Amino acid sequence: MAPIKPDLAHKTALGRLPLELHMLKRLLSIALLALPITAWAFFKPVRVLIPELAGVSCIGKVICTDDPSRYAQASSLYENAIQFVGTSVGEIGHKPLVIFCATDGCFQSFGLGKRSAATIGTFGIVVSPRAWKPHYVQHEMIHHLQKERLGNLNAWISTPEWFIEGMAYSLSKDPRPVLAEPWQQYRSRFEAWYQQVGKAQLWTEAAKL
Ligand SMILES: [Zn+2]
Repeated sequence: MAPIKPDLAHKTALGRLPLELHMLKRLLSIALLALPITAWAFFKPVRVLIPELAGVSCIGKVICTDDPSRYAQASSLYENAIQFVGTSVGEIGHKPLVIFCATDGCFQSFGLGKRSAATIGTFGIVVSPRAWKPHYVQHEMIHHLQKERLGNLNAWISTPEWFIEGMAYSLSKDPRPVLAEPWQQYRSRFEAWYQQVGKAQLWTEAAKL
């Protein structure tokens, strides 16, 4: 095939542009329209945004559970953790939504795999049936506070994991004397760092990590 002259190629490309743009726009709007549905179906943690649709009942603004008969227990874990973190780590600015799952099915509907609990940005915390314990809820609230103070994106991308997890295990007063690795090593590293830095400089120094 004879090579297309540069000026002709240019003209052809330009001539096709409006149609391609139009198609691209259409494709983009379809993708955008489908995004929430796709996210809901495939990236299940977004379900913390509308937990009722995942089948849990929300009592008040901040506590949801799939077993309302255990609401009092959930509420006491919640309030104690807010108090604990506020006093020993730092004041929480915006109280997080916490979904207390009494069944594995509830926890799995958020697509969180084998972990015990998870904090999804500052959008919400999901607690699995085995994590209805003070130190677990405190651990997740510390993650919430980290995201408030360091920024959702920054806490996720640039702050080292030894700090994020080491701090949560250490300051939640996790009772396990020895944690599985790498958490044990993260906790020791955080504790050595924290001893140097001190509570007053915690967030300013953390932002430099
Ligand atoms: Zn953690």
